[in-house]
Amino acid sequence: MSSTPIASKIIPKAARAHLDPANIEYTSEKQKNAVAALVEEFTVTPELLKSIQKNFMEGMKKGLKKDGETLAMISSYVVGRLDGTEVGSYLALDVGGTNLRVVSVHLNGGGEITTRQTKYRIDEKLKVGDAKSLFDFMAVCVDSFLDEHQIVVRGDAQIELGFTFSFPVLQTAINRGTLITWTKGFNASGMVGKDPVALLQDAFNRRHTPVRVAALVNDTVGTLLAYAYNHPETIMGVILGTGCNGAYIEKISNIEKWKGKTTADEMIVNMEFGAFDKERVILPLTMFDNKMDRKSVNPNKQIFEKMIAGMYLGEITRNILLNLIDRRLLFEGNVSADLNQMWTFETAYMSSIEADHSPTLHETRKILESTLSFPSTTLNDRQIVKTVVELVGKRAARLSAAALAGILEHTGAWKHKSAIGIDGSLFEYYPSFDTDIMDGLEEVFGEEVRKNVSLGLAQDGSGVGAGLCALLAAKNSATKDA
Ligand code: ADP
Ligand code: MG
Repeated sequence: MSSTPIASKIIPKAARAHLDPANIEYTSEKQKNAVAALVEEFTVTPELLKSIQKNFMEGMKKGLKKDGETLAMISSYVVGRLDGTEVGSYLALDVGGTNLRVVSVHLNGGGEITTRQTKYRIDEKLKVGDAKSLFDFMAVCVDSFLDEHQIVVRGDAQIELGFTFSFPVLQTAINRGTLITWTKGFNASGMVGKDPVALLQDAFNRRHTPVRVAALVNDTVGTLLAYAYNHPETIMGVILGTGCNGAYIEKISNIEKWKGKTTADEMIVNMEFGAFDKERVILPLTMFDNKMDRKSVNPNKQIFEKMIAGMYLGEITRNILLNLIDRRLLFEGNVSADLNQMWTFETAYMSSIEADHSPTLHETRKILESTLSFPSTTLNDRQIVKTVVELVGKRAARLSAAALAGILEHTGAWKHKSAIGIDGSLFEYYPSFDTDIMDGLEEVFGEEVRKNVSLGLAQDGSGVGAGLCALLAAKNSATKDA
């Protein structure tokens, strides 16, 4: 089995170059009406945003009361906060959805962290194959990382590893849990109900890799911890990457279903908020969302995530474009072979199209003609594409705002200085995602929220956080068992 590291791409983040649909020279009244209908359908009005926020808060309360609710509100077993003084070296394995990262984390004290990391792409076949092969692949990656960085372990010693396994896991201890369901395009057989830590540890043992899995962490929890290491006022960790989710600091007295023992009065709760509105009562789902959902590996699940996260936004956009093509309102009714394939319209293209401010929409042209092999496009075509992209992207950001607003109101954190650490390529690269979220928060709370709440990129938070969690596991033996 081979494990190939991949280089990380750096795309500078730009602001959205907004195109007002009123300024498009439409080719027909029918085209104009079609765009107006999409604007109507994809706009999350302030009223709707607030209704979603209220519904979300009710979901939080239900999930804190008992297991099996739509918002799983999983106790992470991570108690205590970091204050930046901690020192030590840990290993982290971050399985997020698209990539796998192995990170060595060195805490130097004084809020300073140095990391070395290697990224590996997870083959699509492994995602849906048998669980053993998937976990063997993870062990191979860690093994080759140790070789590459010449990390030598002497005698019977073992390196402590924090395992970021970013799927819904019902945690039973800091280093134990069971997979509730797969998400984000994964469906490896025989895993639901199993403990990912045991499977990973077995894979290490099979290879005689001197690593002990010390903590099982969700990426949201890791992100919260990583951001808190140099922003002590952090109250929430959020992922906006392949999928979307959040974790926040909750009072244990509010977690009615918590039966464990601990002397701490707070715990990080992994919400699994991508599952929000399974009942489909509040989210403004369109036929384009439904079509994408139907063809996904987990139909009817993770509806909220599918309207927000990087894995899906391109596909929703593609569905809208195909619909316009079929109605002969775009590209003169012709589709390219590439666009006709599912999942070919990457969310990363949306970032480039959003940032395209050239009058001729040069970047958009490049994507459509060079990448997606349309023989030619008109300015009108490109303007319609850009408008569609903007509608899908903005809706995603505003829906995330509704969730964050729910947590901020539930905790009261919007009233005082608090920080939200966000990791994931969508947040990192998508133009104006942060601005759109803040605008949404202001609609809910008023101007004051801008002074109190800050959003920041917790770069590689999910990986670094797993290392920090391995450290906390060592520090807080009190939460080892429920
Ligand atoms: P993971 O979720 O595996 O930890 P990332 O945070 O890197 O990984 O997120 C990967 C997701 O981000 C993919 O679904 C991809 O579509 C999306 N993505 C990657 N690059 C960009 C970009 N430039 N703009 C917007 N989304 C992007
Ligand atoms: Mg990640």
